[in-house]
Amino acid sequence: MSAKLIKGTEIREEILEEISSEVTEIKEKHGKVPGLVTILVGSSPASISYVTLKIKTANRLGFHEIQDDQPDDIAEADLLALIDKYNNDDAINGILVQLPLPKHIDEKKVLNAIDPDKDVDGFHPVNVGRLMIGGDEVKFPPCTPAGIQEMIIRAGVETSGAEVVVVGRSNIVGKPIANMMLQKGPGANSTVTVVHTRTKALDEHCKRADILIVAAGVPGLVKPEWIKPGACVIDVGVNRVGEKPSKKNPDRMVAILQGDVDFDAAKEIAGSITPVPGGVGPMTITMLMKNTLKSLKFKLGLN
Ligand code: NAD
Repeated sequence: MSAKLIKGTEIREEILEEISSEVTEIKEKHGKVPGLVTILVGSSPASISYVTLKIKTANRLGFHEIQDDQPDDIAEADLLALIDKYNNDDAINGILVQLPLPKHIDEKKVLNAIDPDKDVDGFHPVNVGRLMIGGDEVKFPPCTPAGIQEMIIRAGVETSGAEVVVVGRSNIVGKPIANMMLQKGPGANSTVTVVHTRTKALDEHCKRADILIVAAGVPGLVKPEWIKPGACVIDVGVNRVGEKPSKKNPDRMVAILQGDVDFDAAKEIAGSITPVPGGVGPMTITMLMKNTLKSLKFKLGLN
């Protein structure tokens, strides 16, 4: 039987609608809208396309959006001064520095300079610590893991007592989602195993999973026989495996994307599964918007 598809594109629309009506309500009652500044350094095409999508989404939601692009050769001190300016700007609730940064800039120093209460990406050590403590301490869960958890909740998958196996231990996906799934609370209370490149018998761990979250960046790593029948499979991997002519404009080539799971075979075994593309991908920007709204709500004492 074919698994239920967990579509990020549909869940994104649901959440954006919810954010939009909250923004309207707060604007009416408090005369404020969430403020987001996006800082793009340089002109990498991939970064431009990510930032453009973020700006478009913020504008669609009626946020106050500032696009503060900077040249590739900006001095680190100038970038730090810019962040300081937005840390002190009352109309800004979220500061987003698009990564990666040019090599002459210390990425860690820049991320650590963002006020943790405006760190809507959730990468500042203070927010990583808050996430580890869990419960009311959490302010801004990092966007991709937050999107994964939201998808699991909205798909109606039982997480309490579930065996969750996370493939990958990166700071932006594997480690935070593992931490979130083991906390007390809705969409969590799971028993979590994290597996990685040094794990022995990866397949044996995956076979136990009621919820299998794969963020390795290796196309087709998870084989269908590693999936427990009826499991929920969240494929975070986005791998460019080739190029094809665009449907809209056949003269232009677009990337062929593949996940970390052999989707066609896996969907015959899993109970529910996310596609690639159109699965976890659309959730990241959505959760960035949610975090920016949350930041304004914290400021207004509405959370
Ligand atoms: P990363 O390279 O930082 O981490 C990958 C992790 O997977 C590592 O911890 C590594 O130990 C583990 N791993 C790699 N190969 C493995 C193997 N053969 N067996 C077991 N473990 C293995 O990557 P990341 O930033 O966590 O991203 C992972 C994937 O998710 C990438 O494809 C990335 O493009 C995608 N991603 C998608 C989104 C999104 O959709 N919004 C966001 C972030 C990352």
